[in-house]
Amino acid sequence: MIKLSKPYITDQCISNVVEVLRSGNLVQGQFVNQLENDVKSYLGVKHAFAVSSGTAALHLALIALGIGPGDEVIVPAFTFPATANVVELVGATTVLVDINLDDFCIDTSKIEQAITPKTKAIMPVHEFGQAAKMDDIIQLAQKYNLNIVEDAACALGAEFGSKKVGTFGELGCFSLHPRKAITSGEGGILVTNKDDIAEKVAMYRNHGIVYKDSKLDFEVAGLNYRLTDFQAALCIPQLEMLTELIECRIKQANFYNDFLGCTSNIKTPVVFDNRKMVFQTYHILLSDDINRDLLIATLKEHEIEVNFGAQALNALKYYSNKYSYKYSDCPNAFRARVQGLALPLGMHLNDADIKYISSTIKKVLCKY
Ligand SMILES: *Cc1c(COP(=O)(O)O)cnc(C)c1O
Repeated sequence: MIKLSKPYITDQCISNVVEVLRSGNLVQGQFVNQLENDVKSYLGVKHAFAVSSGTAALHLALIALGIGPGDEVIVPAFTFPATANVVELVGATTVLVDINLDDFCIDTSKIEQAITPKTKAIMPVHEFGQAAKMDDIIQLAQKYNLNIVEDAACALGAEFGSKKVGTFGELGCFSLHPRKAITSGEGGILVTNKDDIAEKVAMYRNHGIVYKDSKLDFEVAGLNYRLTDFQAALCIPQLEMLTELIECRIKQANFYNDFLGCTSNIKTPVVFDNRKMVFQTYHILLSDDINRDLLIATLKEHEIEVNFGAQALNALKYYSNKYSYKYSDCPNAFRARVQGLALPLGMHLNDADIKYISSTIKKVLCKY
């Protein structure tokens, strides 16, 4: 079976982990420090915090901004549900905005009509490793005095203009889940350039503890969202190779584009001049006459694992029950959920695999 994705674990990753296990210092050790410093210099940010997941990063971001009951947060309707779940968990209200079908990110022309006096933040998602239109989002955030929390969970290394995503907003959130380009098992990173926000993140990540004058006190009711040292050790060699890993993904994506680009019932990813797409996921959109789920099943028979790309939150039980969302409220999100398809990508594949996957898809689609 050609897998949709596979973590890239080198011998160096494994020996790093063994080193930590033998040392007996499993949490908050040198590798967590090193991972945080490496991310800081890679992104050019002032503060980086290793946390236990991408979801933990998103949750901490909203807590650090003091977002809670009575506040509204704008979230794109097409994403992994964690983006909105954390809004619900801090007691705030999720306001869904539809996406556009060129970048699968929030449709920035539809944000302004969703802003009310209660709106506190916008959470753009850089879906599939493509940057959302940050120029529009920053303009709106400035006009209405809103915070920006970037869900860059699947977009480490992506750029808008020549600036890396995750560094535009008050906070940027990354995931190190095995499905992402680099992984620590479970894990995440939260970044910010603001000292006051960083102080809050540090406190809430670690039980509410603050050290002052070499004394320790619990100043708030905090969480334990720390990353273990062996997880950081696993991830560091992958981070060092990130440029290479991204180049591999871009090359494979271009290869797919060449093979699939002229197929009339497939929309391949749109290329934007001023954005660097890192292809966390190579995601195509099928025309409405194609039965996507049947295609998934047929490709499985050909030993190819493919899957839908992300969820349409307006179609999920929790959000449609609570907010009475209909499919038609965010039609593009729903269309992407129903007709979108993520294809295998990553270091576990070679050019012949991409060719085989593309030609099999074309062959199967001919028979529809
Ligand atoms: C993966 C992902 C998350 C969740 O990250 P975890 O590390 O699995 O908690 C959140 N948002 C987006 C857009 C993601 O791709």
